[in-house]
Amino acid sequence: MSILLAERAGSFGDRTAIIAPEGTFTYRQLLDASARVASFLLNGSLDLEERPVAFLAPPGFQHVAVQWGIWRAGGIAVPLSLSHPRPELDYVIGDASPVAVIAHPDVSDPLLAVARDRGLRFAHGTDILEHPLEALPPVVTSRQAMILYTSGTTGRPKGVVISHDTLAAQITSLIRAWEWTENDRILEFLPLHHIHGIVNVVSCALWAGAVCEILPAFNAWKVWDRIRRGRLTLFMAVPTIYVKLIDAWVRSSPADRKDMSDGCRKMRLMVSGSAALPVSTLEKWREVSGHVLLERYGMTEIGMALSNPLHGKRLPGCVGVPLPGVEVRLTDEAGAAVAPDIPGEIAVRGRTVFSGYWRRPEETRKAFRSGWFMTGDVAVCENGVYRILGRSQVDIIKTGGEKISALEIEEALRTHPDIRECAVVGVPDPVWGERVCAAVVLEAGRCLDTDSLRVWLKQRLASYKVPRETVSLEALPRNAMGKPIKPAVKMIFQHPDGRL
Ligand code: AMP
Repeated sequence: MSILLAERAGSFGDRTAIIAPEGTFTYRQLLDASARVASFLLNGSLDLEERPVAFLAPPGFQHVAVQWGIWRAGGIAVPLSLSHPRPELDYVIGDASPVAVIAHPDVSDPLLAVARDRGLRFAHGTDILEHPLEALPPVVTSRQAMILYTSGTTGRPKGVVISHDTLAAQITSLIRAWEWTENDRILEFLPLHHIHGIVNVVSCALWAGAVCEILPAFNAWKVWDRIRRGRLTLFMAVPTIYVKLIDAWVRSSPADRKDMSDGCRKMRLMVSGSAALPVSTLEKWREVSGHVLLERYGMTEIGMALSNPLHGKRLPGCVGVPLPGVEVRLTDEAGAAVAPDIPGEIAVRGRTVFSGYWRRPEETRKAFRSGWFMTGDVAVCENGVYRILGRSQVDIIKTGGEKISALEIEEALRTHPDIRECAVVGVPDPVWGERVCAAVVLEAGRCLDTDSLRVWLKQRLASYKVPRETVSLEALPRNAMGKPIKPAVKMIFQHPDGRL
């Protein structure tokens, strides 16, 4: 057996690995359950030989056991998003072409229907955790381990393929930088279809032999309850979550606030990432918790790339320096490195970078320049410290830490019978980072009914992609080439009184 996470788990034996809604589980129990999942998946064959298996489960023990089981059977794990309605699940299943689909019984309905329609092998996670044990194949670490679906500027989400070696490089870089040990204890409440929860929280904890306590979903009061009870050492979240925790703290009594703040002070590190952390949020969180949040920068395709220091001064508004094993440079439009203090696109190279987009060789080729992955994010490096300035692609929106494509939402909107044209933009928002807004031009004689439009969209898109605001215009602002002028559309939502 050479999957590094599972190999290491053997040495942690009866230490607690996971505390989840299903109970408390040791590393030994995780190894046993994942071996049973693997045995079920093998179904008499010797090895899944890098074939994908898709799975859907709320954060919890089952999620981790199924993911490890897929790996131990020699397959590629494709974690699905709980917020995806059936058409989005169907898209991912169609794109990944898994050999089997596994779902937690609580969330299985839409996925079961998709699997049936496509004639795929389906199982409930709960049943296969008990499957009789069979011999498992040796799995070399150069094999592919995961496909994570992420939005880009073109079309529908793409599958980011990560090997076991890449995963190990991503994990060990963070273990070194943030000094994880087996004495750590982290609270996980992030979605487990995204790199932040899967790698930074769960995989780092299990690599280190630490305890990972899992809540099935984020809820500000439940997270505060757990923080108050103490013993946590690490905490990682997106800026929107810190805003929600601050809001709950503000609404609490002085005595409760004191307990909440004391719980934070007992931790050794609190991290923010996946979206820009406003300096005002960093400052408020310092008042609430006594911590200066460590802000880091990363992306599904590259893992984590830049981080403020664990020890030493963390600069508000900055994302620090390259993490161990990661090479970062800023480039101009021709792909050449820019001079210090000049803004440029972030390019990343190293063992933490993904292998390619699943079955998209052309898009993979375009994503790299001379071996460097081009992130599309623009930054400046001042005295060796990086500061993110924004994104070069206007059609990528980051809302609550989720990355979404404006074009994908526009495609869905255009299939509505009342909508003739549309333009979707991300508008700066104090809670969400950016909120999704849509300008539409309706077919003659139609009226905009935003409530029914939202209901209609939610059947097709994850709810975080559904525009929070929609306006109807006579015509979209367009440039001489006829392309919608997205900055002008943004202005409509930022300055509604100055509407065109
Ligand atoms: P994802 O692949 O969903 O993790 O999204 C990656 C994108 O999130 C990056 O390309 C950035 O645009 C954004 N991002 C991540 N971390 C930060 C940060 N600390 N500051 C600003 N943007 C960030």
